[in-house]
Parts: sequence; structure tokens; C-alpha cells
Amino acid sequence: MWTSPNASARKSGKQARLTTLGEVASALAHQLNQPLAALAGYNAGVLRTLERQNFSDTQVLEALRREGEQVAEAGRIVQRIRGFLTRRAPQPEPCAIQDIVDRALTLLRHDLQDMALEVKVHGAKLPCVLADPVLVEQVLINLLRNAMEAVAGVPCARLEVTAQMAGARFVRVDVDDNGCGLGGLDINALAAPFHSTKAEGMGMGLAICRSVIEAHHGAIEASQSPLGGARFSFTLPIELHEAIP
Ligand code: ADP
Repeated sequence: MWTSPNASARKSGKQARLTTLGEVASALAHQLNQPLAALAGYNAGVLRTLERQNFSDTQVLEALRREGEQVAEAGRIVQRIRGFLTRRAPQPEPCAIQDIVDRALTLLRHDLQDMALEVKVHGAKLPCVLADPVLVEQVLINLLRNAMEAVAGVPCARLEVTAQMAGARFVRVDVDDNGCGLGGLDINALAAPFHSTKAEGMGMGLAICRSVIEAHHGAIEASQSPLGGARFSFTLPIELHEAIP
């Protein structure tokens, strides 16, 4: 088939960006692995030493155990994202979207508490989605972190997560905020690798979210939220035998 020079230039530009994105993220994952393994080792060593010495400050022990859990979780995430970027397919399994939402919110609870933010969650009982829970959890955490940053400093900040059916075969999750809004940009502009309006932003978050959701045969969209700020929505397929006729 004949393609116009413009179309093929656009295509190779997109491919080049995706290659760079994959390479950067994969290099990051590789670089993070070693310090994470070292942290896990130090944490376990300190805990063992304190336990051997019958150290009894339960608050310190609890904090060290939690630190160990978080380091292990970070290691798991790095491994999964690395696997994903080295073209290993996500590992979809039937899972409840509500559990993924709960887990993401639990992992963010300290940051939410620091900002005195409460996230309203809406959603009736839904069929299981076919998804890799660790990757989808990362998508949600990323969208929620962006939303938290967008409402920082806004009086009466509001964040909402809504899960509902989208047609008979997909579940849709909306993350809404009443923050600064998207300035008319669509998902293509926002999720372009390295697009960021933040001083310390890398502009990789939405690009990775998009590849994760598309690898699940879902889609991600950005629009204006009825709350006044941004709405990011993504869909995931439900387990087929649960499809509503
Ligand atoms: P980063 O957070 O490192 O900037 P992202 O890819 O996650 O990278 O986001 C890209 C950009 O999209 C952000 O810099 C911001 O301009 C915009 N954005 C993302 N989420 C929101 C939101 N909830 N409200 C307003 N702008 C947003």
C-alpha cells in the first residue's frame, strides 16, 4: 500500500519516541534494581540485629517492617514494569477492579493524609476484569498522584474514583479532580513521552499508563471533569464468560 511521505514520517517519529520511552524506562528499572536490593538487605539486617538484641520499641520495629514491605513492593513493581517493557506480555488474571482501587488508595494513604484529602469511591458490584493487577494498580497510582498534584493548593479539593460498566464487555474507571484542568490538551498531547508541565516532572507517567492499558486491549482518555478539573478514564475488558448479553 502506498503511504504518503508525511504519514510514514509521522509513523517513524512515533516509533522513535516509543523506542526512547522503552529504553529510558527499562534503563531506569535496571538502575533501580540494585539500590532496592541493597535497601532490602539492610532493612532485613537491621531488623534481625534488633530482634537478636531483644529491642522492644514496637513503633521502631513496626516502622522497619513497613519499610521492608514497601521496598519489596517497589522491587516487585520494577520487575513487572521491566518485564512489560522487555516485551513480556502483562500477566492478566481475573480480578476485582474494586480491590485494585482499594490497594492503590491504601498505598497512597499517607500522602492523602498529609494533604488532608479524602477520595470518594463510587461503584456498584462489577464483573471481574482480565488484567495484570500490579500494572493496573500502578496506572491508578499514577493517575491519582497527578490528580493530587493538580489539586494541591485548591480550596475544597475533590478527588473521585468511579468504576462502572462501559458497554457489555468493558469496565471503565474514571479519576476526577477539581484541579487546574487540562488546558484543552487531549490524551495524545498529554501522554506524549516527556511532556510535563511540572518543574520536577519526567513526563513518562501517562505514556506508561497508556501502553499498559493498551496492552490490556483497553483505552485511556482525558477530558474535562464535571468536578471542574481533569478526568482520566481507562477501560479494561471483563472476563469473557461474565459479559452481560
Ligand atoms: P509528570 O507527572 O511527570 O509531568 P505525566 O505523564 O504523568 O508526567 O503527566 C504529564 C502532564 O499531564 C503533567 O505534567 C500535567 O501537565 C498533565 N496532567 C496529568 N494529570 C493531570 C491532572 N489530573 N490535571 C491537570 N494536568 C494533568
